[in-house]
Amino acid sequence: PVPDAPGRPARPVPSPIHDPAPARAEGGVRMRIAMVSEHASPLAAAAGLGGADAGGQNVAVRALALSLAAAGHEIVVHTRRTDPRTPRRVVMAPGVTVDHVDAGPARELPKDALVDLMDEFSAELAACWRTERPDVVHAHFWMSGMAALPAARALGVPVVQTFHALGSVKRRHQGADDTSPARRVAVESDLGASVDRVLATCREEVDELVALGVPADRVTVVPCGVDVDHFRPTGDVAPREGGFRVLSVSRLVPRKGVGTIIAALAALPDDVELVVAGGPAPEDLDDDPEVARLRGLARSAGVEHRVRFVGSVSQDALPALYRSADAVVCVPAYEPFGLVPLEAMACARPVVAAEVGGLADTVVHGVTGHHVAPGDPAAVARALDGLRAHPRRARAQGRAGRRRAEAEYGWDRVAAAHERIYGEVVAAVPSLGALTTGSPA
Ligand code: UDP
Repeated sequence: PVPDAPGRPARPVPSPIHDPAPARAEGGVRMRIAMVSEHASPLAAAAGLGGADAGGQNVAVRALALSLAAAGHEIVVHTRRTDPRTPRRVVMAPGVTVDHVDAGPARELPKDALVDLMDEFSAELAACWRTERPDVVHAHFWMSGMAALPAARALGVPVVQTFHALGSVKRRHQGADDTSPARRVAVESDLGASVDRVLATCREEVDELVALGVPADRVTVVPCGVDVDHFRPTGDVAPREGGFRVLSVSRLVPRKGVGTIIAALAALPDDVELVVAGGPAPEDLDDDPEVARLRGLARSAGVEHRVRFVGSVSQDALPALYRSADAVVCVPAYEPFGLVPLEAMACARPVVAAEVGGLADTVVHGVTGHHVAPGDPAAVARALDGLRAHPRRARAQGRAGRRRAEAEYGWDRVAAAHERIYGEVVAAVPSLGALTTGSPA
């Protein structure tokens, strides 16, 4: 442990995956896995993220599908068609096909508007699975579960659900600003009680699920992962000048807490700059209402000249940007998992993170960075000031982050945890008992 965490002792480092017994396809069984990700296409993860509805789920579904395919399984990811020119099926990689399901108009729609299309989506899934029966279905996000469950149940196929975010948490934090459909919380509660297994991405989510009435023995914590080959400590570094660079990477929505970082900047010396990645493409930044709001905050705090908005950054360009930073700050009001701190850790950057959701598990206070309370600019400033004053410690925390990312959160390890659970739910289906596709990889 690196002893520069003011006021708090370093806690023992928890391991997010408690039983990593491998269940690889080699010599084992090859599964046909249907993933449903109604609004978040894994193909979009390669294009552009950071917009209002495109973020971690796209990245996680893509990486999980690729890792499971690399382990010998056959994956189809069903996502809604948003462009009439897209072929129905696209092979993303050997073993991974993306199926563009026709449900509603073939154009982008806000994700909160998709709920009324889920019956149609479900009927398409049912038709598809009748001819191509999966061994297991993994639904990502509540609406995917809504569509997947009836279609899978009709065929006796077990369903695993990852919510990625919970409506009850969103409502608690966003109150009247929550645009989720009114029935979301009830649907999530019903789904939790009906599917074969719920995967919680962090420990905090388990309590939320239990409060929703989901039986605790049906919940397993399985975190998301990070591509530790792509996000590496060494390689190109984005250009930067002197001083101390603080980086924020997120969708630009108020709950991500970028305003807190801007407020913290006012308490830090003039050589500390903040780079804000995410939001629309760079050429559209001036039209974005959240950018305008954040620029207004920076103006009022007298730090406008030290905050730079760079817009959406591609996954390809992100490692160089992380490497250009002295510290990465991620202080959302709440966070179901949070891939950004892990990406920063994998690039060996110290992370200042709000102690919420997945960030409470991934970042280890005093070891890989600092925990602060959400919405506390003074605490963010103190943590950054400490890192700035002690560069050796900061670098040591970065290295500890890299070690933790590699040891605990590589996608191979996370995919193996998923495989194990898929195997368990398939084995528990009374009429099946064993996998149906059966051929070793
Ligand atoms: N991201 C990106 N470019 C951006 C902003 C974000 O590629 O300009 C990616 C980021 O690298 C991460 C994901 O979007 O993989 C955000 O995931 P996270 O879990 O942190 O938050 P979410 O968006 O799911 O709330």
